[in-house]
Amino acid sequence: MTEYEAIIGLETHIQLNTATKIFCSCKADSWFDPPNTNICPVCTGLPGSLPTLNKAVVEKGVLLAKAMHSNLLPMSFFDRKNYFYPDLPKGYQISQYDKPIARGGYLDMPMNPAGGQSYVRRVTIDNMHLEEDAGKTRNEPGRRLIDFNRCGVPLIEMVTGPDLRSADEAAQYLIRLRQLLRWLGISEADMEKAHLRCDANVSIRIKGETHLNPKTEIKNVNSIDAVREAISKEIERQIHEVEAGHKIETWTLEWDEDAGVLRKMRSKETEADYRYFKEPDLLAVRMTDEWRDAILAGYPELPLERRARFIEAYGLPEYDAEILTGERTLSDYYEATVKAYGGDPKRVSNWIMNDVLRMVNDAGIQASALKLTPAYLAEIIKLIDAGTINTSTGKSLLAKVETTGRSPATIVDEEGLAQVSDDSAIREVCAKIMAASPNETAFYKAGKVTLIGWFVGQVMKEMRGKADPQIARKIMEEMLSK
Ligand code: ZN
Ligand code: MN
Repeated sequence: MTEYEAIIGLETHIQLNTATKIFCSCKADSWFDPPNTNICPVCTGLPGSLPTLNKAVVEKGVLLAKAMHSNLLPMSFFDRKNYFYPDLPKGYQISQYDKPIARGGYLDMPMNPAGGQSYVRRVTIDNMHLEEDAGKTRNEPGRRLIDFNRCGVPLIEMVTGPDLRSADEAAQYLIRLRQLLRWLGISEADMEKAHLRCDANVSIRIKGETHLNPKTEIKNVNSIDAVREAISKEIERQIHEVEAGHKIETWTLEWDEDAGVLRKMRSKETEADYRYFKEPDLLAVRMTDEWRDAILAGYPELPLERRARFIEAYGLPEYDAEILTGERTLSDYYEATVKAYGGDPKRVSNWIMNDVLRMVNDAGIQASALKLTPAYLAEIIKLIDAGTINTSTGKSLLAKVETTGRSPATIVDEEGLAQVSDDSAIREVCAKIMAASPNETAFYKAGKVTLIGWFVGQVMKEMRGKADPQIARKIMEEMLSK
C-alpha cells in the first residue's frame, strides 16, 4: 500500500486587541455592539477622508515578530489590495505587500502524540503583515445586510511555510499560537469570536517525495476542532482521488461547520488580480532601534521557554509544567508560591493543579485576581508542614481565605482550627467512641480491622476535623487491640 504524507501550511488572521481601529479612532472591538455603531468617514471609505496609522498596532506586531524570531524590516509600507466586495467600502483593503512589518521566523512546537515518540516540529514563518479587516455581510432571503463595524479592525496576517504534516500538528500550531498571543497580551485570540481565523493549504504526496503537488485551500474554519476535522477530511479526499487516478485541482473549499463537510467555493483570485500598489495616503513605517528597544523593554519569558525551565529548575513532570504554563498569570502564581513556600516545588504544583485551578475556573477569573494570594497559599502549606493544621483543614481554608481575604493564620486562630495532637484529649474521645459503639468494637476485635477507618472518622467528626488523623489512628488501634 502506498504511504502518503500531508503537506499543510496555515494562513492566520489575528485580531489585535487595540482600543481603536488601525486607521481611525473608532472603537475596535464591536462584539457586543449593534451593527454600524462604531464607524466613521475613514473606515467607511468616504471620499476625502484620510487614514492615520495607530501606533499600538505596530507595537503589537513587533512583539509577535520577536516571539516568532522574525526579522523586522527597518522600513515597511502599506499597500492597496484591490478587489470588489460589498463589505469593502473603499474597493480596496489597506494591507502590506512586498515590504511587510516582518519576514521569516519560526516556532518550535513540542509534539507528544498519544502512544508515540515525542518530537519537535519547526514551523517556519514566511511573513507577517499588518492590515485592516473588512466588514461583515449577512445574507437574508431577498436582501443582503452589511455591518461596517469590523472595517478597519487591526489584523496581523501570518503565513507559515508548508511545514505541518498532519491535522493534529495544524491544530497544535493554533493552540500554541493562541497561547502565545494571550501571553503577550496582544490578542484575545478567541476563535469563536473570530479574533483568530485560519485558512489551511493542504496537499499530499507519496512519502519520501520532495516536490509539492497542487494544493487546495480550506476557508472558514473557526475552531480548533474544525481545523482538525476539516483537514483530516481533505487529506482523506485527496488520497481517495489520487488512488482513483484523478488529478487534484486547486480548489478553494469552505468548511460547513453544521454539516461537517467541505464545499467548493468560487475559484480564487490570483495575486495579479489584486493590482497591489503603494498606499499614497500613508507614510512608510520606520522601525528605529530606539523604538524597537522601547517596545521590547520588559519582554516576557515565553510559555514554551517557561515550560522547559519549570521542568529543569523545579523537577516538575512535563504534564504539570504544561498545565502551569498554560496561561501567564497562572505560571506567575505558581512561581511566586514556590518562592514564598521555600519547600518542595512539586508539592506546590499539586495544590495548584488539584485545588487552586478549580477555584480559578469556577470563578472564571485569572489566578492573579484570587484573594488567595501566593503568599497565603504558601502559608497554608507551611501550617500543614508545621503540624499546626491537618491537610483537610488546609483544604477548607482555601475557600475561607478566598471569600474573606484574611490570612490563613488569622482564620485558624479565630475559628480555633489548630490541630489537636495532644494525646490525652484524643484518647478521651477515642474512649467515648468505643463506649458508644459496642457492636463495631466487637466486630473489630473479632478481626474486621478495616473498621479502623470508620473509627478514625468518628473521632475526627467528634473533634470537628481538628484531630491529627495519624495520632488518632494510632491511639484508636492501640485501644481497640487491648
Ligand atoms: Zn472609523
Ligand atoms: Mn489578509
